[in-house]
Amino acid sequence: MSAESEQQAHHERVGRIVAQIRKMAGTVSAPVKEREGVSHFVPLPGRASSNRPKLNLKELNHILDINVGRMTCTAEPGVTFDELVRETLRFGLIPYTVPELKTITIGGAVSGCSLESMSFQYGGFHDSCLEYEIITGRGEVVQCSPDNRNDSFQMIHGSYGTLGILSLITFKLLPAHPCVQMRNVLFHDFDSFWNYMRERCEQKDVDFIDGIIHAPDRLVVCEGRMVPAEDNLKLSKYDWLSVYYQSTLDKRVDNLALHDYFFRYDAECHWLSRTVPALEYWPVRMLLGNYLLGSTNLIEWSQKLSPLLKWKRRPDVVVDVFIPEHNFVRFFEWYQKDFDYYPLWIVPYRAPRLYPWLSDEHAERMGTSFLIDCAVYGKPNDDPRIDYSELLERKTYELNGIKTLISRNHYDETTFWSIYSRPRYESAKAGLDPDNLFGDLYQKFKPRN
Ligand SMILES: Cc1cc2nc3c(=O)[nH]c(=O)nc-3n(C[C@H](O)[C@H](O)[C@H](O)COP(=O)(O)OP(=O)(O)OC[C@H]3O[C@@H](n4cnc5c(N)ncnc54)[C@H](O)[C@@H]3O)c2cc1C
Repeated sequence: MSAESEQQAHHERVGRIVAQIRKMAGTVSAPVKEREGVSHFVPLPGRASSNRPKLNLKELNHILDINVGRMTCTAEPGVTFDELVRETLRFGLIPYTVPELKTITIGGAVSGCSLESMSFQYGGFHDSCLEYEIITGRGEVVQCSPDNRNDSFQMIHGSYGTLGILSLITFKLLPAHPCVQMRNVLFHDFDSFWNYMRERCEQKDVDFIDGIIHAPDRLVVCEGRMVPAEDNLKLSKYDWLSVYYQSTLDKRVDNLALHDYFFRYDAECHWLSRTVPALEYWPVRMLLGNYLLGSTNLIEWSQKLSPLLKWKRRPDVVVDVFIPEHNFVRFFEWYQKDFDYYPLWIVPYRAPRLYPWLSDEHAERMGTSFLIDCAVYGKPNDDPRIDYSELLERKTYELNGIKTLISRNHYDETTFWSIYSRPRYESAKAGLDPDNLFGDLYQKFKPRN
């Protein structure tokens, strides 16, 4: 298809969504955004969406343009990172930030959250975005960039679809080599682990960095450098029989193709596959891997089984919290003593600046835009005396951090709006969704159980 016909087809797809929105205006509140594939929100009891009206966004999954000269890409929000990386790699280019699960979409990454092992240099995916096309709550199509409606442009990240519908995103690309040479540096105490990781982040002498705390005395910094493909480079794969996160304890060096590196955690959905212990044995993986492994399969299974969650006291804790770098030591001291669940995934995240959706008071308390993402994936939460999800939220607040909203939330309204900037959110709402078709951010995530 020529560039003009791509554009024309995009306008027609957007037109069909505009028509749905105009029909809904004034009669509907907070429609469910339907798209192809799975959502990376933790299925929770009591959050049924089946009775709510649906806004069909399924058509918005095309890459319109990869501009090699300018090193930019323009794509619709339903494009997954797996598809995106395959396409951009054909031109020797990659996005600045590639979340580790294959079917996270670029729209979900901008509206929700996204970071990974390049985030110590480049922040989140939204930090590489140059322009958004947004369909407002009144069905107008507007362009937002730093030079045009900058306030709306800045507020879209982390608004979780409550300000408008992203219909097109233009973002920057980076030149890449096709392989990654990894070093898994093992430490036996937290201080050495953290000093080493902090130094790499400051020196910026690696392309990728994240960490896996397997236990308080087994902490691994996983660092990687992009390298050209060479004939004698033996490449590992972690999409079937071998388990990536376990390999970081056993292998001090490793090499992966770049695409496999980006999605190295996908087969296990980090380590959520451990909820089915047999899945870590290779005969089971050999027989059932096609049906059960991979974040999409695992999330689909957990959605099918979610009615069973109501028999559990509470769902397992699955959440990322961002701790200001200077409070990370205090956080881990507490975590070891009171939380004690491993592996704990550590991703250094240097945002280019503190985001305007944070309240001025919380931003001041944070005092830095260098954050440490501590990702807790799968802590059982059945103790009648302690709700670990709530405990983690409280500790994060006490240490002036931010909790992502991807699973259970416990904030009362006052606390929530002491972290998020209500005046700036309301101003963006007035500009993009004055009749509140898409619902309010706090109402979307307020405690439900
Ligand atoms: C188990 C698990 C593991 C995770 N691992 C990682 C990881 O390794 N790296 C990482 O970066 N993140 C990770 N995440 C977080 C994930 O990136 C975020 O939850 C992200 O927002 C998911 O995007 P999605 O494409 O699945 O979109 P969805 O979950 O479908 O949507 C996310 C939000 O964006 C809104 N939205 C979606 N499309 C649009 C649109 N077109 N316009 C407006 N609003 C829209 C939705 O309403 C929703 O509020 C993980 C989450 C889970 C549950």
